[in-house]
Amino acid sequence: MYDVIVIGAGYGGVTCAAALTHEGHRVLLVDKNAQPGGKAVTVRAEGFAYELWPIAGGPADMSRFHELAVFLGRDPEEAILLPEYASEFRYKRDDGTWAVVPFSARPSRDPAAMVALPTALGASEGEVNGLMRLVGAVFSTADEALADLDEVSALDWVRGFGIGHQLESYLFMVLNLLFVVAVDRLPASEAVKTLRDFFAGGGGRYHLGGFGQLAEDAVDYVVARGGEFRPCTRVERILVEDGSVKGIETSEGTFLAPVVVSNAGVQPTVLNLAGPEVFPSAYVEKVESYEPSWAFVGIRYVLDAPVIETPMTLRFSDESWWDEARYRRAEAGEWAEDPLLFVIVPAEYDASLAPEGRQMVLAGTMCSPDPDSPMNQAAIEHVDRLVRATWPGIDDHIVRKDVYDAATVSSASRDRTVPGAGGECIGLAQIIGQCGATKPDVRSPVSGLYFTGCDAGGYGCGTHQAVDSGFNVAEIVAADRAGHSGFVSADASSAES
Ligand SMILES: Cc1cc2nc3c(=O)[nH]c(=O)nc-3n(C[C@H](O)[C@H](O)[C@H](O)COP(=O)(O)OP(=O)(O)OC[C@H]3O[C@@H](n4cnc5c(N)ncnc54)[C@H](O)[C@@H]3O)c2cc1C
Repeated sequence: MYDVIVIGAGYGGVTCAAALTHEGHRVLLVDKNAQPGGKAVTVRAEGFAYELWPIAGGPADMSRFHELAVFLGRDPEEAILLPEYASEFRYKRDDGTWAVVPFSARPSRDPAAMVALPTALGASEGEVNGLMRLVGAVFSTADEALADLDEVSALDWVRGFGIGHQLESYLFMVLNLLFVVAVDRLPASEAVKTLRDFFAGGGGRYHLGGFGQLAEDAVDYVVARGGEFRPCTRVERILVEDGSVKGIETSEGTFLAPVVVSNAGVQPTVLNLAGPEVFPSAYVEKVESYEPSWAFVGIRYVLDAPVIETPMTLRFSDESWWDEARYRRAEAGEWAEDPLLFVIVPAEYDASLAPEGRQMVLAGTMCSPDPDSPMNQAAIEHVDRLVRATWPGIDDHIVRKDVYDAATVSSASRDRTVPGAGGECIGLAQIIGQCGATKPDVRSPVSGLYFTGCDAGGYGCGTHQAVDSGFNVAEIVAADRAGHSGFVSADASSAES
């Protein structure tokens, strides 16, 4: 018998479990995988430590990960890596040449450095002024005013500043990368809130020992304080009686608790694990209708020499960013010449992550979240073509290429539940109608059953959203338990009405 069971040791689950443990709750954390970290797990093999795909964090500084590190007793200055030469942005200019712009993880306060990117991209003075007005609007929009932007698309909002096609391509590419959804469906509220963090805190954070290291530290924290972690334990059923959660049935036995927090995804939790029969039918319909983010798919290259010297590379042209129409064209097989390429080299952040003289390169691009979509194969071929075009010498040093696609992502994280989903990069899509007031509630209509992770309870980019949710949901669960109250999910009441 536990106070709280957390299903899933992704960043949402481990943060929530650690925060609840800290509050004195006896927590059982289970995961079907052997190791914590979920989609951001760090694997250790052949002398390398690496993520299964490219992962870096944003905001770089002043992030929820800094709070997590402090909470776990780690010194963020040591545990969190913010390299001076963190990234290279490679942009195909109008004349076909490539601008290569270096970035440090922490944003520069030097005015000359601030205009270096727009100038290198070829923006005019008037367009740079437009960008400055946009930055001003990002900082001056109060949190209370964000709801007014819930129904406005990020694309329309950005276009109101007259920043020109180069800076639009840059910003839309960044927004695609942060949210992995169409820029004409991303709410400006979500974009503005996250851009504020990035403009203030920079981007391109990594963690000492691997991106998943802090998830492992969080599990150690739970176990050291009387909680329990059960890896390789697949939850097969969430037990519900008379509208209240009772515990979980797993591959390793049955465990009981009055509270279950699921990091396994809203759709898998409701439609598979608890089962639609325990929820109001209108709620089930609503859950079925949620859309996933797109996927990121690509290749891990094992090299017999260090070829790339930059921790993170973003390669893009005016064609690389996607709105819904561009995505549909690529899905139909009409790819642009230069799709977005995102590349991370973990050992360029922390040299101990690769054996001397070898390198692991993680590369990817956007794709359908459907594990069965033929888009997977096309996207992977484009990634390979773009990597070779960017670093022509790499061919002589490739020892092995490991492909990952939407099916691989699904097996490392959430089960396929609704058609066309499973391999999503983030979780439920941060699109108009699924954000702000319409974001799924962290409380389900079943008393004691909550959600954490990227589907509910947080905001921001990928892993940052998961950690934000973990902290927020722990607070809600602790408050509900302190009040010993039953509750009705806001989703349930709105679905009924
Ligand atoms: C290719 C790719 C690139 C990415 N790049 C970035 C990036 O650069 N920056 C960034 O911030 N984010 C990135 N992300 C997104 C980020 O990894 C995710 O948004 C985030 O890690 C999700 O965290 P989570 O806690 O919501 O869930 P997850 O990490 O999905 O964790 C869910 C956990 O639940 C477990 N689980 C599921 N079902 C069960 C069950 N039935 N029983 C037991 N356990 C179960 C899973 O095993 C998993 O450990 C990337 C993702 C991908 C796929």
